[in-house]
Amino acid sequence: MNVPAGEFIHRQVSMWPVALYTLATTPTVRIEVEPGLGIWCKLEFLNPSGSTKDRVARYILDDALSRGALRAGDLVIEASSGSTSIAMALACAQRQLRFLAVMPEGVSNERTLMIRAFAGEIVMTPKEQGIRGALQESERLAQQRGAFLPRQFSNPLNVEAHRVGTAQEILSVVPIVAAVVSGVGTGGTLVGLFEGCPGSIPVFARPIDYLTSDPECCSFSGRIPGVVECVSQLFRENLLPGLEIIEVRASDAIACTRQIIAAGFPVGPSSGLNYCAAVEIARKLGPAAAVVTVFPDRMERYFSTELFRGV
Ligand code: PMP
Repeated sequence: MNVPAGEFIHRQVSMWPVALYTLATTPTVRIEVEPGLGIWCKLEFLNPSGSTKDRVARYILDDALSRGALRAGDLVIEASSGSTSIAMALACAQRQLRFLAVMPEGVSNERTLMIRAFAGEIVMTPKEQGIRGALQESERLAQQRGAFLPRQFSNPLNVEAHRVGTAQEILSVVPIVAAVVSGVGTGGTLVGLFEGCPGSIPVFARPIDYLTSDPECCSFSGRIPGVVECVSQLFRENLLPGLEIIEVRASDAIACTRQIIAAGFPVGPSSGLNYCAAVEIARKLGPAAAVVTVFPDRMERYFSTELFRGV
């Protein structure tokens, strides 16, 4: 199914900002679940489009613009099932670039509405082909339309954005990091934090079961949205010496997410996943160890999912 470009593209914007706005940094805050655990959380949901993918989008686009590989008016195409498309749509809108998202059918309505509101186009690929189908279609469309492909699953700038951005911001608050904890979609976050925080143990928070009651697939699968091992060329275990893998039940991740929200942090399910794994590694490492994790995105994009069932 192809969703037409929408009138936004043609009615587009007679108003451009004088300067790009962004946040200088996001906060890194200590959140205690039990006394004595040193768990620090990077509040990435506070980025302008609502997720950590804003960093990746602007880093890749600004690199291409500075090299002359992209110019105002050019088309950018990205395969993603959520956060990256929204972030790219916003970053393109700020830079007078056009944007087309290729996404598997079934992505939640909240996401498609945001992309279209940022004047992005959407092409849907069959749900059963998953993110791989979307990737193939993005390559084909980019060839046909002469578009720029950020390629988040293989572009080393994805890792670099976290190594030189997120990790340095963390180190300015927590100078010695014992462990960095993250779920993996592209792996950009985990690999970048590990490379940017010297001496840290990388911890992969892996969801082990399915949220089968979820009618809508809002990301790569029915697991925790955004964080499932799939097609990334950036995440390889041999890049992460000392890698610890902590398995978290999806239902525990959701329950933890609800607690985090109730404590005043409007986050999505991958934040609960990350926090559960952070608690486990923090218990293992003891009170002196600073464990750092990430709250990747905002709760509003999950209103139609399991997270808000029964609220
Ligand atoms: N959380 C959410 C909500 C995501 O969308 C993603 C990536 N798609 C991740 C976590 C994982 O981040 P990364 O791609 O850097 O591994």
